Amino acid sequence: MIDFIKELYPICRSITGNGVRETLNLINRHIPLKIHEVPTGTKVLDWEIPKEWNIRDAYVKDSSGKKIIDFKQLNLHVLNYSTPIRAKMSLAELKPHLFSIPDKPSLIPYRTSYYAENWGFCISHDQLTSLHDDLYDVVIDTDLSTGNLTYAEYYLKGKTREEVLISTHICHPSLCNDNLSGIAVCTYLASALSKTRPHYSYRFLFIPGTIGAIAWLALNENGLKHIKYGLVTSLLGIDSIFTYKRSRIGNAGIDRIVEHVLSLQDIQYKIIDFIPYGYDERQFCSPGYNLPVGNLTRVPFGEYPEYHTSADNFDLISDKALNDSLAVFHEVIRHIEADRKFINQYPKGEPRLGKRGLYDNIGGRNDSKILQLAFLWVLNYSDGEHSLTDIAMLSGLDLSIILEATDMLKEKQLIK
Ligand code: ZN
Repeated sequence: MIDFIKELYPICRSITGNGVRETLNLINRHIPLKIHEVPTGTKVLDWEIPKEWNIRDAYVKDSSGKKIIDFKQLNLHVLNYSTPIRAKMSLAELKPHLFSIPDKPSLIPYRTSYYAENWGFCISHDQLTSLHDDLYDVVIDTDLSTGNLTYAEYYLKGKTREEVLISTHICHPSLCNDNLSGIAVCTYLASALSKTRPHYSYRFLFIPGTIGAIAWLALNENGLKHIKYGLVTSLLGIDSIFTYKRSRIGNAGIDRIVEHVLSLQDIQYKIIDFIPYGYDERQFCSPGYNLPVGNLTRVPFGEYPEYHTSADNFDLISDKALNDSLAVFHEVIRHIEADRKFINQYPKGEPRLGKRGLYDNIGGRNDSKILQLAFLWVLNYSDGEHSLTDIAMLSGLDLSIILEATDMLKEKQLIK
């Protein structure tokens, strides 16, 4: 995943434009994406698709001709969505367009100006305070014009149309944890799932934040009824706690499952209730939709000092953290796949297991006592109300033994 992030890191992404398309093309090498283009001006819910932004170059030269700020060194240097400019100006004229973080003076901030036309540069506060009066040559070579908003979906058809939605934002430029880690984990998860035949259908969304989710919801309202579980994710690259923010529903299947999976891992985690602030769960959990969508990250957004700065780079993330995050997602999906209900065909009294070869010393295996217990749990709670995942939670038995017992009971037609 680190190697994949290294490919994605240099691309200047935004909420629209060729950076998004290039990113989706790289993801498309791992999983077959369906790429959608939504034209500028399209009405989506209470919003409108903005003009498309593309950038070729941006720099500031001092009077000696030396580039003192150079977009090509680091794309965070340009205020994302800057309008074009070509001018010579004094420091006093330039300064209102320079952005820094005074209390983190060595870091370059990531700033955007999507919905208010402006131009600017982001630099370290150390550099800002060292600038002297001069005649600066300011160039931002961008287009902000009629075009499209681009997003992509990967859909994996399961045995049922009931659907699991996994969404990550793809609009941040060179930032590793805040959004590239999410792209990498979602891509690898989708790729692994694509080699299986899942029960549920899976839909992965690679969308620009906010406007992408709003556009997708507006264009896909008819399909929303199929969504049974959902997660918005990113921030998966730092070796830190896991954080799960519940759906607005609060006790949806996804909430029960993620909380259970986190409780089984040898990791620190915290669970928080839904708040209408954060990532795209804000849109999926808006009251008109109220979808069963939670948010699973490591350390939450805004709560690590490198957040939205040049320090969100390769020093911050690790292969171990990415792999641990991916493993948690695999566990969540394993539990979603088992969130299916069976019906005991002999619910009055216990069926006789012995005459069906399901009692004691099955094949001489040393876990036959646990398997025995699993038969009893699955039979008793296969009442049409409880899923296999529920039974694993109730019994405290590992999901794999519950699944194995279920297969054997099914084969003997004790449950269906
Ligand atoms: Zn962000």
